[in-house]
Amino acid sequence: MMKIKLSDVNNASGRNYRFAFNLPADEFNFPTDDYQIIGTIEVSGIAENTGTGYHLQGSVKCQRHFICDRCLGKITEDQVNDFDEIYAVDAPETQKDVNLFSGDFVDITDLVHDVVIVAQPMANLCKPDCRGLCPKCGINLNEQQCDCDTTIIDARLTVLKKLLEKD
Ligand SMILES: [Zn+2]
Ligand SMILES: [Zn+2]
Repeated sequence: MMKIKLSDVNNASGRNYRFAFNLPADEFNFPTDDYQIIGTIEVSGIAENTGTGYHLQGSVKCQRHFICDRCLGKITEDQVNDFDEIYAVDAPETQKDVNLFSGDFVDITDLVHDVVIVAQPMANLCKPDCRGLCPKCGINLNEQQCDCDTTIIDARLTVLKKLLEKD
């Protein structure tokens, strides 16, 4: 768990308290279908007592491991994702962006989990313009060129093409 003790924040000079946590990624129950979050999750930041609540700012370092959808390359990528959240014991109903808590701790384990999940891209690509594999010979087109003819034209498209060529 990643718990910030609020009496530590209140006693810190300027009421600014630096926190840092390391936890194995396994402890977060991240999804494992499309990608894996591996290694150690490193969290660091500053907690500030604002008088009405606690302002937490920080970053989450993690590693994403996946197989590229296009070239099937095995990729491990380092990520740093930031967070900026307000925690309070009580908040008016209109203030939707406040996280409520009670007691002398703010547990940011769920926050860290969500920061990582929300930051993950929909597609698994080694780079945005990955050229993938040649569908005929299987060569990795990021690394090499081949001479395969990969223009596969559907029969109906051929008819359409002929019609267009008449103009
Ligand atoms: Zn790729
Ligand atoms: Zn080829």
